[in-house]
Amino acid sequence: MEKNFPVSGWSSVAVHGGHTQDPMYAHQVPIYASSTYVYDTAEQGMRRFSGDEEGYIYSRWGNPTMTEAADKIAALETFGIKDKSGNAIEVKGILHASGMAAISTLMVATLKPGDKILTHFSLYGGTDELIQKILPGLNITAEIVDLRDLNKAETMMKAGGIKMLYLETPANPTIQCVDIAELSKIAKRSNIIVACDNTFATPYLQQPFRYEVDFIVHSTTKFLNGHGTAIGGILLGRDTGLMKTHITKVHRLLGGNGNPFDAFLLIQGIKTLELRMERHCHNAMEVATFLEKHAAVAKVNYTGLASHPDHKVAMKQMRHPGGMLSFELKKGLQGGIDFMNKLKMCVRTVSLGTCDTLLSHPASMSHAGIPKEQRHKYGITDGLIRMNVGIENVQDIIADLEQALG
Ligand code: PLP
Repeated sequence: MEKNFPVSGWSSVAVHGGHTQDPMYAHQVPIYASSTYVYDTAEQGMRRFSGDEEGYIYSRWGNPTMTEAADKIAALETFGIKDKSGNAIEVKGILHASGMAAISTLMVATLKPGDKILTHFSLYGGTDELIQKILPGLNITAEIVDLRDLNKAETMMKAGGIKMLYLETPANPTIQCVDIAELSKIAKRSNIIVACDNTFATPYLQQPFRYEVDFIVHSTTKFLNGHGTAIGGILLGRDTGLMKTHITKVHRLLGGNGNPFDAFLLIQGIKTLELRMERHCHNAMEVATFLEKHAAVAKVNYTGLASHPDHKVAMKQMRHPGGMLSFELKKGLQGGIDFMNKLKMCVRTVSLGTCDTLLSHPASMSHAGIPKEQRHKYGITDGLIRMNVGIENVQDIIADLEQALG
C-alpha cells in the first residue's frame, strides 16, 4: 500500500499497515533470521554506528521482521487520531520479548529512585509483582487505589509526588475498567506520565492515544498474535524523539528484544484481528447473558452487561466490550475446581486471546501465591473463573459450560 493512500477502514490498516516491500520481492515479510548485518566497507560500518546512515547493525538493536510488526501495531494504535492541529499523530513502537519486558523497559526508562507510581487494583499479576516486589528495591514505590473513584484519583494526583499513572483497562482478571480520558486529563494537569496496558482491548476496540496517553504497552502474546503461538510485547510512545533515543537505549541495554520468528507469527495474526475480535465479542455477550441467568453463578463480570458497574465507562472508550469475562461460582474454591475438571471442549489453561475458549481459576492457579485477604480486596474471590471466550460456535461453548456447571 502506498504510504499516503487514505484508507478509511481499520481492517485495511491491519492487513497492509507497517508493510515495507522486501528488496527480494517476497510477498510476505521474510523471517530475517540473522543476528548481525554486514557492511560493504568499513566506512559504511562507521556511518551505521554513528547514525549517519540508516541500517541494521545487530538484531538486539533491531531487525526488519521486528520493525514490520512494531510499525503495524503503531499504525493501528494511531489510525484515525489527529493532534490539535489536525495532523495524524505519529508514535514509535519497540517490539519486546514479552509484555513484561515491554513494561520493564517502560519503568526503567521513565522512573528513577524516589519516584512514585499511581495505579489501581486488579492489574495483571506479573505487573502487580513488578510494582510491589521489584521496583521498591530501586526505591520506586506505588500507591494502589480504586481509580474508578475519580475524586480520589484527583486528590492523590494533586497532592504531588506521583510521577506515573499506570492504567490497565479492562483489567486482568476482574475486567474492571477505568476512565482513560478523565484520568489522563487529571494527570496531565500535574505533569504526570500516563501509561496504559491495552492488551485486553487491542487497538481494534480501544485506542488510548486518543486520550493523550504517553505510552501504551501490550502483551502481544494475546489477541494481537491471536493463536497462542508466541510470547511477545510492545512498548509504544507518543514522544517519538524520546522513543528513538533514551528509550531505545534502555531497550537495547536491558536486552528484552523480540525475535524475528515470533514477529512473523504476530504479523500474520494481526491481519485477522478485526474478524476475530468481532466474533470474540459477539460470543462473549451471548456467554455472559447465559451465565447471568444460571443458578450456580453468583456474579458475572462482563462490561457488556448493563449490570456491570463499569458498563458506561467501557462503552464510552471501547468499540465493543471485549472477549474476556469472569464469573463467580456460588460454591467457592471447591466449586471452581470441580467446574474446571468437568470442561470437555473449552480448555483449562491460563493466557488469553486465542481462537479457542480458555478458562482459568485464579484462586487455585495464577493468583494462588497472593494472600487470600489481598486477593479478595482485588475482587479475586475463591470461586472466580476467568474466561477467554473463543471464536468457536457459541452454542458449543455454552453447551460445554452448561454441562460443567450442572
Ligand atoms: N499485561 C496483561 C494485561 C496481561 O494479561 C499479561 C499476561 O498475561 C501481561 C501484561 C504480560 O505479558 P507477557 O506474558 O507477554 O509477558
